[in-house]
Amino acid sequence: MKVFVVNCGSSSIKYQLFKMTNEQVLAKGIVERVGTDEATLEMQAERTNLKTTVSAANHTEAFNIILETLIDPRLGVLESPDQIEGVGHRVVHGGEDATKSARINDDLIAVIEKNSKLAPLHNPANIAGIRAAMAAIPNAEHIAVFDTAFLSTLPPKAYRYAVPAEWYTKHNVRRYGFHGTSHRYVALRAAELLGKPADKINLITVHLGNGCSMTAVKGGKAIDHTMGMTPLEGLVMGTRSGDLDPAIPLYMISQGMKPEEVDAALNKDSGLLGVSGLSNDMRDLLGHCEKGAESAKLAVEMFVYRIVKYVGAYFAILPSVDAVVLTGGIGENSLPVRQKICEQLASFGAIADEQRNITTTRGKAGPLTANGSKLPIWAIPTNEELMIARDTRRIVAGAE
Ligand code: ADP
Repeated sequence: MKVFVVNCGSSSIKYQLFKMTNEQVLAKGIVERVGTDEATLEMQAERTNLKTTVSAANHTEAFNIILETLIDPRLGVLESPDQIEGVGHRVVHGGEDATKSARINDDLIAVIEKNSKLAPLHNPANIAGIRAAMAAIPNAEHIAVFDTAFLSTLPPKAYRYAVPAEWYTKHNVRRYGFHGTSHRYVALRAAELLGKPADKINLITVHLGNGCSMTAVKGGKAIDHTMGMTPLEGLVMGTRSGDLDPAIPLYMISQGMKPEEVDAALNKDSGLLGVSGLSNDMRDLLGHCEKGAESAKLAVEMFVYRIVKYVGAYFAILPSVDAVVLTGGIGENSLPVRQKICEQLASFGAIADEQRNITTTRGKAGPLTANGSKLPIWAIPTNEELMIARDTRRIVAGAE
């Protein structure tokens, strides 16, 4: 079975084509700047590494261009779009209605539309992508995989905020969480690698990319998570503040800022960028640290401190912790940040192993702590696209 995985933004389509018998990626790439005169198509496949300008006035045209390229006989990827049996769509917000991956039909599109108010930047783009893909690949089954789904198992004491109950009942104010597909993937991988049944494992999974989040996993299910009603809550991120006193935005408004300016400042000008004043990118920031930039050192210190603090909190709510799992660009690659996390978790029994930290990088999964460490800390590369492809295959095959 061939499965096509798509992740649609308002002006981009990221895609991967999988051959599911061996989970091989046959082609992957992105169309960017959809709707402008400068749209580009990138495609990597066995026989090509393409980057070219294309004409893609909308998502439907963009899908048609991807498909035309995939069936180009010189590339030899596909003979016909009809070979694609399933299309897996990443959908950001399923709200309380969509708690697992499902076949897309009119009812499910209505659910995604209904939840657009909770993800106004993402869900409308996801719907545009779904409609365009259904038009361009009409013979395939289309499956939605929700970012929020893995976090739908949080109990009310974790997902409710202590605000007037009506904010929840009338306005849907609660913790939903994000990055769920990544947390689910690494939790399943960790169970395999640690040799524990997936429904028995207790973990703290830590996704550190541009956005950052943590999940407490008990018996394979999420019981708490750092992101909230929006992705702003929790850890310090590239440009997002994470946790702060909820009175601060109101105070800054009283100081003359407009609500939308505060919103932009907290989402786009805060986090590593805001504190350092230098960069939102961990690699750049570590370079500045080496040159002695104090603001960069403080930003990295705050980044690690917040993670360590949440590990402590999640230890308190889990019956035991089989491992802390680091993933995402920083978790998979950033040696200094990983080393600091391991060292600062010594009080929980973590024994940092510098050599393992150095060798477990560039796509490798493995422990960053020494044999005999009471708390194992692992790096496990995430693969949200593969998780989406597996869900799609399972549903298309009629397993549910
Ligand atoms: P996104 O959330 O957009 O998918 P990524 O998961 O790629 O982002 O993570 C981006 C972050 O990972 C950036 O801060 C980047 O500096 C960091 N990163 C990526 N590769 C490395 C590396 N080799 N060393 C240190 N940091 C890295």
